This record gives sequence, structure tokens and C-alpha cells, in this order.
Amino acid sequence: MTGLDLLAKTGSRGLFIAGDWGESRTGARFEVHDPADESVITDVADADTDDAMAALDAAVAAAADWAATPPRERGEILRRSFEAIMDQADDFAELISLEMGKTLAEAKGEVTYGAEFFRWFSEEAVRIHGRWMTAPAGGARLLTIRKPVGPCLFLTPWNFPLAMGTRKIGPAVAAGCTMIVKPAELTPLTMLALASVMSEAGLPGGVLNTVTTSNSKALSATLMADERLRKVSFTGSTPVGRVIVRQSADQLQRVSMELGGNAPFLVFEDADVAAAVDGAMIAKMRNMGEACTAANRFLVHESVAQDFADRLGKRMGALKTGRGQTQGTDVGPLINADAVESVGALVRAAVDDGAQLVTGGETPEGPGHFYSPTVLLGVPAGSRIVTEEIFGPVAPITTFTTDDEAIELANATEYGLASYVYTRDLARTVRMAEALEFGMVGVNTGLLSNPAAPFGGVKASGFGREGGFEGIDEYLDTTYVSIPG
Ligand code: NAD
Repeated sequence: MTGLDLLAKTGSRGLFIAGDWGESRTGARFEVHDPADESVITDVADADTDDAMAALDAAVAAAADWAATPPRERGEILRRSFEAIMDQADDFAELISLEMGKTLAEAKGEVTYGAEFFRWFSEEAVRIHGRWMTAPAGGARLLTIRKPVGPCLFLTPWNFPLAMGTRKIGPAVAAGCTMIVKPAELTPLTMLALASVMSEAGLPGGVLNTVTTSNSKALSATLMADERLRKVSFTGSTPVGRVIVRQSADQLQRVSMELGGNAPFLVFEDADVAAAVDGAMIAKMRNMGEACTAANRFLVHESVAQDFADRLGKRMGALKTGRGQTQGTDVGPLINADAVESVGALVRAAVDDGAQLVTGGETPEGPGHFYSPTVLLGVPAGSRIVTEEIFGPVAPITTFTTDDEAIELANATEYGLASYVYTRDLARTVRMAEALEFGMVGVNTGLLSNPAAPFGGVKASGFGREGGFEGIDEYLDTTYVSIPG
């Protein structure tokens, strides 16, 4: 089998509505491109707003039965889906690598990470609890019941074509919600394969509907104008997140927002510099830097900055750029030409601002959207490369002298998703965890993502949590019942 064989059961890579694969009503289709050589991989159905409404009708029709399905049954469908994904992990990895560009090793990591949300939430499906208490003044018993919020819309980005979907689908299925999933137009294939796997694992028709479209804006605006849609979970950029939150006001849909990041990576003078460089390679280079958790700014104590930069430069400079499916490739292509242009412009601006290029800064000849792994030292705090989300393989290093200065620099951003701290001092660790205005703090580690942990941000990085015990709460409403007695 190959990755593309996973699509054999998706009709002609169509829309999955009410348990059936079909074409869009207009018959329109759009192409999916390989970022490594810009060739056409295949095409998929291009849904319009009528198709989207058919998907909502299906999600609404299935909602009551699915909410009444025993939790164990919902959990077991997730568990079987987890096993089916893991059985076909190599094929899923190849499909992800083809449409998104990441290396097979990274794609395999995403498959495991993505599938684990199904295992975790298969276990959470049977642990949805209410409460029972005596009213403080007596005279009444106060009960709470948790109920699924109802039909949901999921909008997912291109950087983790599987995991950004399963992080929402897992808890929603566990909670008893039905849903419409709209994957990013740049990487729609993996979600189609997932829908077919879940259907084979016994998920009833209408619970999960997938619609691919080249017009996300119209499609989501139409769906969100409908009062039957009760929840929107969005992972993507902050500007689009703001649009979705505004749109949710009319029907007062519940919203979860997993938005952009600008993660600081702090290295203190007492840090194990070799370990910090290992962590930096993961925090920076996972997904070619195209991750919301990617270390975006390296804030390094002035006494260790040169050592850190030399070591990081050496490691980054040794990475081999190439096609994700080719053996020996360390770094795949970026997602498209705009991404390469945007990363290159940030690097040029930083150099103009006075930063020193330690390694990289090159755009290899096409075809393919490549950018060389880059390290910059002495980046001024106001440079665009440290105020904007880079989303590429570039590590800008800025120095600091005191802990207070480090905290001030780290928090000087509208974003608040991931942050990283390297120190061997326990008191400093506690102080940083409390002072950093971020939803997540990694201490002496470059990897935060874990299905058992509550992933999410504060400030312009959004609200709501995915994974952990908190993840299922996003899909449950609370009804309070008062009983005299
Ligand atoms: P994006 O905002 O362009 O798109 C995200 C999704 O929204 C896609 O499905 C897209 O088709 C859709 N979309 C775009 N415009 C829309 C509109 N006007 N109305 C409705 N839907 C619309 O983001 P992207 O470029 O796909 O992803 C990269 C961004 O995602 C980065 O900012 C990254 O930090 C963020 N991200 C965040 C997390 C997180 O968990 N916080 C995880 C991954 C990516």
C-alpha cells in the first residue's frame, strides 16, 4: 500500500455526508499540490454552501441518536479508529508527507500523536461525570448533568493535517456531538482518509461529515449563520480566528480558538547548554518551524549566548533539506511560495536591523518551496522577526542580562501559547512558570504536545483547551437540576 491507497474508499475523494461519499452539487473540484516539486498530487471535491448545508442537515439529523449512544460504544469506536490508524501508520505518514511536505519520520510522529487523541478520549468517554450536593442552606439537592453541546464545525490548518483534526474529533465523538470537519484547502487528503477509517470502525453516518472546499470563508459564514450549529472549534491564524469569533456572535455559538504563537525559548546562565541546544532543535525544527508551538525567539543570557549560537548554528547548518519522502532528508519544503517569501523577508529585515547571520539565509533553487535552516545572532528586540510568527526554520537569538529583563522580553508579545525555559534552578523554574504569560511552559524540554495535557493559549493565542481532562469540557454543556429535600 501507499499513502494514496488510503483514499481508495473515499469515492473520487469526494464529500462525506451522512455516511456516504459523493460529489459536490456543482461537480467542481480543486487540485492538491506537492510542496516538494509543485506537481499536482490529485484533486478533491470543491463544496459550495449548499453542500455545506447538506452536511449540517446530516449532523443535525444524527445528533439525538448519537447523544443517546452509550458512552462505552462511543469510546470503543474511537479505540478501534486509533488501532486502525496505527495499523496503517506508514500509509498515513506517507499521505501527510506528500500533501504537507514534512519528512516521513516527522509524519510518523504526527500519526502517533494524532491517533493518541483517539485512545485518550476513548478512555474519557466513560468518565463524563455530573455532581450531587446538598444546598449550603439545606432544603435542596443540587445536581449537574453534562450534555453534548450539539452539532459542531471544525476548521483545521494545513500544518498537522491529521492531529489538528483528531484533537477535535476525539473529544467531540466521546462527548456525543456530531460534526462537520473542514480541513485546510492546502492539505485536505488526510482528513478524507480519516473519515473512511472511522466509518469502517463503526461510526454511524452523519456523526462525522467532511467537506473540502476552496471557499472556506463563504462556507463557514453560511454554516455559522444557522442556529442549529452550536459550536465552532478553530485552529489557525489569529486574524482568521478574530473573524470567526465575531461571526459566532449572531447565533452565540460556543467557540474554541487555537491560534498563532510567538514562543520564547529562554536559556539562563545556569542552563545545560548542550541540553538547551538539543531542546532548541526540537522546539524550532519540528515541522520545519511550521508549528504554532515553534520557538520563535531565543532569549539567551549574554554569558552563554555565543556558545549557544555556535552550537545551534553547527547543528542547523548540518541539516539536509529535501523531499520529505526521500531517505536522509532532515528538513522538508515549506508549504508554498508565499511561505518562503515571507520567511526570507523576515530574515532580510533582521539583517538590515543589525543581526548577524550565523548560518543559512538562503532560498535553494526550485522546484519546491525550500528555505535553508538559519540562525541569527544579536537580533534587536523590535525586529519584525521576533514580533511576528516566523513559521519557518529560522532561529533568531536575542541576549538578556537579568531575569526581570528575560521575563519582560518574553511577555512583550500579543501571543501567549507555548514558552520554553532552560535552567537548573528550581526557584527560577517556579518563578518563570508563574511570570510567563503563556498557556504552556516547557521546562528543560523542547516538546510540549501531549494528548494527556491541556494544550492551549492565552491572549491573542486564543482560548479553550485541547487534550487532557479539559479537552472534553469544550464539547459538554452543564444542566443544573434543583430537587427539594
Ligand atoms: P488559517 O487561519 O489561514 O486557516 C485555518 C483554517 O481556516 C483553514 O481550514 C482555512 O481554510 C480556514 N479559513 C481561512 N480563512 C477563513 C475564513 N475567513 N473563514 C473561515 N475559515 C477560514 O491558518 P493556516 O495558515 O492554515 O495555519 C497556520 C496558523 O495556524 C498559524 O498561525 C499557526 O500558529 C496556527 N496554528 C495554531 C495551532 C494551535 O493549536 N494554537 C495549531 C496549529 C496551527
